[in-house]
Amino acid sequence: RSKELGRNACRLFAPSMKDEAKERLRMEVLLREAIVEKQLVLHYQPKLDLRSGRVYGVEALVRWNSPEQGLVYPGAFIGIAEETGLIVPMGEWIVREACRQCREWLDAGLGPLTVSVNLSARQFAKADLGRKIAAILGETGLPPNLLELELTESTVMGNPEEAARMLQSLKELGVCISIDDFGTGFSSLSYLTRFPIDTLKIDKSFISRLEEEQANGAIAAGIVSLAHSLHLKVVAEGVETQRQLDFLAAKGCDAVQGFHISRGLDPCALEAFLQQR
Ligand code: C2E
Ligand code: MG
Ligand code: MG
Ligand code: MG
Repeated sequence: RSKELGRNACRLFAPSMKDEAKERLRMEVLLREAIVEKQLVLHYQPKLDLRSGRVYGVEALVRWNSPEQGLVYPGAFIGIAEETGLIVPMGEWIVREACRQCREWLDAGLGPLTVSVNLSARQFAKADLGRKIAAILGETGLPPNLLELELTESTVMGNPEEAARMLQSLKELGVCISIDDFGTGFSSLSYLTRFPIDTLKIDKSFISRLEEEQANGAIAAGIVSLAHSLHLKVVAEGVETQRQLDFLAAKGCDAVQGFHISRGLDPCALEAFLQQR
């Protein structure tokens, strides 16, 4: 059939590209449905304070409970949600659900626990983000200091002037701001002093080969000391072994998150995890 359409058409609509476009469209339709049909769920990964040994907070991680595919991880759908703009309504649901759940745990005496939510660049670029988050805090009654927003360097560096204003207005709500996947971006570090940031999260790529590669240990230790010099808190993600935890504790890292402590858990499993500790 592509032969009939000639060479150019063949190049533009090579079968693999056509299939890919079809697959994306199918995913988009399914994702739209997922939001409406309430197939999205949040799992919560504990964060451990290294000084007190206490779990002080959790990170909300979205999963899609797909009727066809079972539990789907965000790597398989966040990209499409971003491209189609579906991430905006999806992200609003995520913030609301995380705040609602966190307030429920507060009322149940399981805490106080902070909850971190990942924000995508598309969400962050919306002028009404602050107003939406303020409304959700009001609606759920969650104390603002228990909500942390995770942003990547590329999200805040897309438009630094706008980002500075947005971060300032978010800070005025009383929420905390953290930089996710720190160390993997390509941006100037000067934003760290210009933006109202509370926490740096060391990317898991530096932690995963901490023992094997000396340079990664040096980078992780360097980020800890950089953060502390700027009066920022520092959390390491992707901690999978006791040795990694010990290394980070020795370097003065404030908190850790990773499979060594726990994977992301559904609300029920998280409650059991907290009660057991
Ligand atoms: P992230 O925010 O950096 O989240 C950490 C990811 O690392 C999670 O994967 C988590 O399950 C995984 N992880 C945690 N501990 C370990 C460990 O010890 N070892 C290893 N190998 N991995 C670990 P997940 O849940 O698949 O999420 C992947 C990414 O998807 C997140 O990276 C985040 O960028 C994005 N994401 C997740 N939930 C949301 C959301 O609600 N909204 C948006 N916009 N993005 C989200
Ligand atoms: Mg994160
Ligand atoms: Mg991360
Ligand atoms: Mg997990």
